[in-house]
Amino acid sequence: MIKAYAALKPHSPLSVIEYDLGPLGRQDVEIDVDYCGICHSDLSMLNNEWGMSAYPLVAGHEVVGRVAAVGVDVSHLKVGQVVGLGWQSGYCQVCSSCGSGDHNLCAAAEGTIVGRHGGFAEKVRANAASVVALPEGMDPKTAGPLFCGGITVFNPLLQFDVKSQLLLPVKVKLQKPKS
Ligand SMILES: [Zn+2]
Ligand SMILES: [Zn+2]
Repeated sequence: MIKAYAALKPHSPLSVIEYDLGPLGRQDVEIDVDYCGICHSDLSMLNNEWGMSAYPLVAGHEVVGRVAAVGVDVSHLKVGQVVGLGWQSGYCQVCSSCGSGDHNLCAAAEGTIVGRHGGFAEKVRANAASVVALPEGMDPKTAGPLFCGGITVFNPLLQFDVKSQLLLPVKVKLQKPKS
């Protein structure tokens, strides 16, 4: 059983709940959650501000943890590896966005806390394509927000090649997105 902090209804304090997620899907990853950021979207979902919250609702989509288990079809992540998980937890894998590496634009992308339980929990699950290995040397304690607010701001800086002396030197090796 997985223990988690859940809202049972909008604007309620979080309660501890337990659930069993059943067998791990072939392409899924189970993460032992070590850290999880709090984003304003968590608050919006906890309080059903967007009308799509399902209760009990376990928020948390800035997850950093260790791979606890991988589905039989997952080969690029290993048990024990430090990984992160953001807002999206699954993709169709067959549309043109998925085919060109722009999974974030997939019209069928699943939200980590939309209709599934997120990272305010001992464990969280997601499709392997949405789970990202943390680069060497990155502090797992502070990396969580990079998977939501961080990438939201950083991606356009990279896409549009924004240069500024104000930008801090980036220590991780970056790959420019295709096209
Ligand atoms: Zn967020
Ligand atoms: Zn897709």
